[in-house]
Amino acid sequence: MATGKINVSVENIFPLIKKFLYSDHEIFLRELISNATDATLKLKHLTSIGEAKVEYGSPRIEVSIDKDKKQIKITDQGIGMTEDEVKKYINEVAFSGAEEFLDKYKDAGKDAGIIGHFGLGFYSAFMVADKVEIISKSFKDEPAVYWTCDGSPEFTLKKAKKEDRGTDIILHIAEDSTEFLEDSKIRELLTKYNKFMPIPIKFGMKTETLPKPEGAKEEDPAPTQEVDDIINNPNPAWTKKPADLKDEDYKSFYRELYPMQFEEPLFNIHLNVDYPFNLTGILYFPKLTNDLNIQKDRIQLYQNQVFVTDNVEGIVPEFLTMLRGVIDSPDIPLNVSRSYLQADGAVKKISSYITKKVADKLSSLFKNNREDFEQKWNDIKVVIEYGMLSEDKFFEKADKFALYPTVDGKFFTFEELQNNIKDNQTDKDDKLVVLYASDKEAQHSYIEAAKAKGFEVLLMDSPIISHLMQKLETSKENLSFARVDADHLDNLIKKEDSAISKLSDEEKDSLKAELEKVTTDKGYTIQLEAMDSAASPFIITEPEFMRRMKEMQQTGGGGGMFGMGNMPEM
Ligand code: ADP
Ligand code: MG
Repeated sequence: MATGKINVSVENIFPLIKKFLYSDHEIFLRELISNATDATLKLKHLTSIGEAKVEYGSPRIEVSIDKDKKQIKITDQGIGMTEDEVKKYINEVAFSGAEEFLDKYKDAGKDAGIIGHFGLGFYSAFMVADKVEIISKSFKDEPAVYWTCDGSPEFTLKKAKKEDRGTDIILHIAEDSTEFLEDSKIRELLTKYNKFMPIPIKFGMKTETLPKPEGAKEEDPAPTQEVDDIINNPNPAWTKKPADLKDEDYKSFYRELYPMQFEEPLFNIHLNVDYPFNLTGILYFPKLTNDLNIQKDRIQLYQNQVFVTDNVEGIVPEFLTMLRGVIDSPDIPLNVSRSYLQADGAVKKISSYITKKVADKLSSLFKNNREDFEQKWNDIKVVIEYGMLSEDKFFEKADKFALYPTVDGKFFTFEELQNNIKDNQTDKDDKLVVLYASDKEAQHSYIEAAKAKGFEVLLMDSPIISHLMQKLETSKENLSFARVDADHLDNLIKKEDSAISKLSDEEKDSLKAELEKVTTDKGYTIQLEAMDSAASPFIITEPEFMRRMKEMQQTGGGGGMFGMGNMPEM
């Protein structure tokens, strides 16, 4: 038996751990199960290369609660530790530089969510336990070992009786952490962090219904049996090769990820790259509405199948946070603040890879099945339009497949639109004028009048459309957008015979003066000679720029979508 002092540079590290990790102390379970998983995967590797001459079998991890003793136990069947290894891995390594570490990061810690990414590892157990025991038996032919520590830097180390290979970690739950003795709490944590970890994790038993035996009567109850409750799926879809997955597999994985989501995704994008960084994942395009208060926390970030966070801000471009799915990468630094993340080289590459994959997928959907793409347009346009606004690389690609629907239900790409209208809709300054309506009902008579002139009228009703129009106008030459009721229309309208044009100049002036009386101060312009339909002999318009300013003030700047953080200044 030996006692000794854990090698730390501050007298008592445990109060510090508790203090700094207070907001996120639930991660202890994730850390201990990660260690158990690592220990099992190490054994798998060593047996596969013949270095460990033992049967690998089908090991699992078990989590159990003893409410009376106020204990949580985590058992694995991995490589285990010898006495020397406990000394080396548990006693010495843990806190070298701990004080410096905490000093360095304590400010970042205030930024919610960050401290949970530290991976404080084994010692995070002391966030919830006032005493921790380890009983471990190495796969090597050496006696089992017992270690315990009660939260002071003193530990006890001695030989133990344990026949089976692997490690038991026993936590004596502290008085202020008894919530973790509840089955429901542990189950919630296991489901959150460990749902897709690679080694089966057992937590309690469950009742399984068996098929009825042959000849059973209708009213006979189906037989049941008690089986181990394995809480995880060790082989989630994103870890498989795209070639091995069918559409149905992607859909059922979606249901696994979002059990409360009943709507099917529109399509998915399988991410799979191993150079110059490692990343796998599946992104789903959900049906999106025009509602800009879209919930953002829908993509889950994993590291080697361990859940890390569902806040991927800074890792994927903001417009893609509207998607759902999973990203798994060991190359995303997790122990740093968000602002640092955005400047990190690897993260930048990951972000542009994901953007490119999404653009490529959309492009191939567009090319391979245009009709289907048109049908989905309404559900996907918010993401695409927002992406075009905020990411220039995405704009370049999306410009070829972004669709502009007309009020009559036709869809043009920008190029098609341009070709279609260039002869008819060029104004006196040689600018292409794209007419659009934002509300089919309210602007009905303007739409009809424009159509009667042979003009194409787009239906642009997205919430960020005025921003996008501005962007298109600045990135393309000689282009302007004008709503059907805008004063721009004047430039386009050929001054042919019309009811109004039959009026004398004096008559026109006095009609105009009358109309101006009722519309002054509203920024409207009266156009008299414009229309020839008897139903709308003249029109009242508002300057395009004024209306757009008003609209952008509503959606732009600080408020609106996502706070419009990345929204270019107009
Ligand atoms: P990390 O996992 O980042 O190495 P930890 O503090 O979580 O840091 O664990 C320290 C070390 O203790 C591990 O690297 C491993 O060698 C050892 N260890 C911890 N838990 C186990 C376990 N269940 N089985 C075998 N070894 C373990
Ligand atoms: Mg660890």
